[in-house]
Amino acid sequence: MLENLTLKEASAGIREKKFKPSELAAAMMDRAEKQNADLNVYITTTRTEAEKLAKEADARQEKGELLGLLDGVPGALKDIINTQGVLTTSASKILSNFVPPYNATVAEKLFNAGLVLTGKTNTDEFACGGSTEYSAYGPTRNPWDFSRVAGGSSGGSAAAVAAQSAYYSIGTDTGGSIRLPAAFCGVSGLKVTYGRVSRSGVTAMASSLDTIGPFAKTVEDLAMILQTIAGSDMKDSTTPRVAVPDYSSGLNSDLQGLKIGVPKEYFVEGLDPEVEKIVRAAMVDYEKLGAKLVPISLPYTKYAVAIYYIIMPAELSANLARYDGIRFGLKPEGEVTDIVEQYYKTRDQGFGQEVKRRILTGNYVLSAGYFDAYYRKAMKVRTLIKADFENAFKEVDVIMTPVSPGVAFKVGEKSNDPLAMYLEDAFTIPASMAGIPGLSVPCGFNSNGLPVGLQILAPQFAEDLLLKVGHQYQMHTDWHKKFPAL
Ligand code: GLN
Repeated sequence: MLENLTLKEASAGIREKKFKPSELAAAMMDRAEKQNADLNVYITTTRTEAEKLAKEADARQEKGELLGLLDGVPGALKDIINTQGVLTTSASKILSNFVPPYNATVAEKLFNAGLVLTGKTNTDEFACGGSTEYSAYGPTRNPWDFSRVAGGSSGGSAAAVAAQSAYYSIGTDTGGSIRLPAAFCGVSGLKVTYGRVSRSGVTAMASSLDTIGPFAKTVEDLAMILQTIAGSDMKDSTTPRVAVPDYSSGLNSDLQGLKIGVPKEYFVEGLDPEVEKIVRAAMVDYEKLGAKLVPISLPYTKYAVAIYYIIMPAELSANLARYDGIRFGLKPEGEVTDIVEQYYKTRDQGFGQEVKRRILTGNYVLSAGYFDAYYRKAMKVRTLIKADFENAFKEVDVIMTPVSPGVAFKVGEKSNDPLAMYLEDAFTIPASMAGIPGLSVPCGFNSNGLPVGLQILAPQFAEDLLLKVGHQYQMHTDWHKKFPAL
């Protein structure tokens, strides 16, 4: 079955002329369109674009002029990534009619490498959430259990890979938005080092934290995608000129002597005992592969969520100030008599409740008199969290933790309880604060058949190490080979 292939297998099949890119595209689009009624993975499916791009790839295949390993393979992009001529809503009503005039750098790089776009995936509005329930276009459902969330905010991107309507997808991770949905949907997801992938043309959420990264069925596939999207970009001044290594070539060396830090602060009350058992079993598997487990402490972990919900809204409120309905986006309903009223109405009608909550918080913590007490203090704590990791990486090579305290929860279970929702990211936010990369790999299923994820963290720009550590696990386990029957 074409849908069961990994990205690597699809790529090899194209090169060996076993099938045409247009056949893969048709298979993916049929699934994407059929599943969307139940799963709501895509805000927009793009059959017309997919057919056109696949035909061009067919021609290159025929002539033996394929652009590279990704050429002709169907993939999906989160709907906060600008795509020229294709609706990009950021899952908000305020951008419900926004068709970007240019491609984001990440989209441009992938199109240049032969991406066949299946569609624009659902997300929480402006990536603000952990379940994809805060989308103006309705929640994405978990392919393993339709009554549950897919995780968020890149829930659509994770679910597209799990539901096998795309061989890979791109999401963003500001506080956990790739790692959490990867874990909830049972796929592999990579949050890169801050600055490793250009953010140009991707709707900004919290600019000092935003990162862009891939989802796929295997870690080996993630390496292929990262190879294409990583690197410095003139259009994003936060992308340093750090060399991009060959991510695939290092995957096969063994883990003999690898030191894995196990932070005690991530195995605390509130962690689902079944999740703990499964994650600890994965670590024992690593010991069998020659790694050594080292107990460590990251003492400032407990402040991470609290300071994230100061820093993130501060930056978000500044970034969202540009949506005023004047240059692009929603025009308000009803009479407006002056420009100020137009701003009020556009933003009142255009933003959802959670985004409004964050704008208010952000403006509050930045306002005169509160800036020092909240924002500046939070930034100081952020430095301490970063130092926690720097100290730990003097002793160990990587750190392993659960991705989240629990498995995918029910749709509606936490959507009216912001605090419960925010705590889902307790284990992913610290790495975001430190700007380090993190990988989420499937490591088992709970007694209800729901996937559990293992989080692996490494020092800045050590994606090559992370990918090797993830790949070696997948060479010896089968969790990543399981998919829901759809
Ligand atoms: N769940 C977190 C939030 O709601 C993280 C979001 C993200 O990484 N984009 O802010």
